[in-house]
Amino acid sequence: MFTDCSSSTTSRLIHLNSLNGAFLPRPCFGQLSLRTTASTWRCTLSIRSSSSPSAIVINGKAEAKNIRDDIKIEVSRMKESIGVVPGLAVILVGKNKESATYVRNKKKACDSVGIKSFEVHLAEDSSEEEVLKSVSGFNDDPSVHGILVQLPLPSHMDEQSILNAVSIEKDVDGFHPLNIGGLAMRGREPLFLPCTPKGCIELLHRYKIDIIGKRAVVLGRSNIVGMPAALLLQREDATVTIIHSRTINPEEITRQADIIIAAVGQPNMVRGSWIKPGAVVIDVGIKRVEDPSAAHGYRWVGDVCYEEASKVASAITPVPGGVGPMTIAMLLSNTFTSAKRFHNFQ
Ligand code: NDP
Repeated sequence: MFTDCSSSTTSRLIHLNSLNGAFLPRPCFGQLSLRTTASTWRCTLSIRSSSSPSAIVINGKAEAKNIRDDIKIEVSRMKESIGVVPGLAVILVGKNKESATYVRNKKKACDSVGIKSFEVHLAEDSSEEEVLKSVSGFNDDPSVHGILVQLPLPSHMDEQSILNAVSIEKDVDGFHPLNIGGLAMRGREPLFLPCTPKGCIELLHRYKIDIIGKRAVVLGRSNIVGMPAALLLQREDATVTIIHSRTINPEEITRQADIIIAAVGQPNMVRGSWIKPGAVVIDVGIKRVEDPSAAHGYRWVGDVCYEEASKVASAITPVPGGVGPMTIAMLLSNTFTSAKRFHNFQ
């Protein structure tokens, strides 16, 4: 369901956590209150207020950079103190171009913070046993603290049995059923949270958006985004509704939300009229759509019609530059957490 919806940025960009770059545009009255800490300006968002004509842009790219910078410092402290660097292993099967790009980006991100990356690239026609052998090798390798099997796997492989084979202590993607089970059950703590949903919640926290008691709607119920995002919001004491492809009248349900997380992979599905004035919108969706007027002949489009939504919402993530960079930052964070746990490093 792709409907065109121009993606020009009408929202104001506010840099948080930056002394030099910090500014607040004047029309924030009533929508933002400012707090100064020793070293930072911070914005406190009230998601109920809606007087402003355009939303604050939640800058995932800048926040992800802040997180990477912190991890880099911590990784170097770990190396100096105990002589260990965290290691992340990626298993890529087949020739899927997008998967290859994701893997390349993950490797670059690891390099940028000092995490050692390991990569196995298997042919499309490899057997499931070969993939399982690689998983098992990394499970036993003490220099590897995180293992990631790049999805999708070729159709002749059983994704479940391969993901289940990843040691739960190295499941930095957070997809192992035991980790998801820990997330779903009250009183249990998963070892890792799935990276994209964790990144969404991290953005809400960093922008000081209240979650407790708010109505949240998650569009999409996939194992990797929608379902864990809904579980996480519930853990944060939001009241959560999940929309999927069989939901009747998703527009009306979405309009009740204070917080919307959209992860359906349907470009521009969520229109401005779906959004309650003042709601906060996190757009996970990202699809490449043809656009002859764009420099490369295509552009990236989210699940939310940005131009319309940014006039109604109080805050919104752009696509690209919103959730995507946070996903990789959370992967680095999970890998570092895993290495700390292995070596009992504080
Ligand atoms: P999936 O295809 O696995 O899941 C899509 C979900 O959306 C399903 O639950 C499906 O419902 C639901 N859905 C699809 N169409 C509709 C519709 N018309 N109305 C209501 N619900 C619908 O996708 P993913 O969860 O893997 O990814 C979602 C999007 O997020 C994609 O654009 C993907 O590229 C992006 N993504 C972005 C990441 C990032 O880091 N920025 C990371 C991961 C994904 P049902 O269950 O009934 O089939």
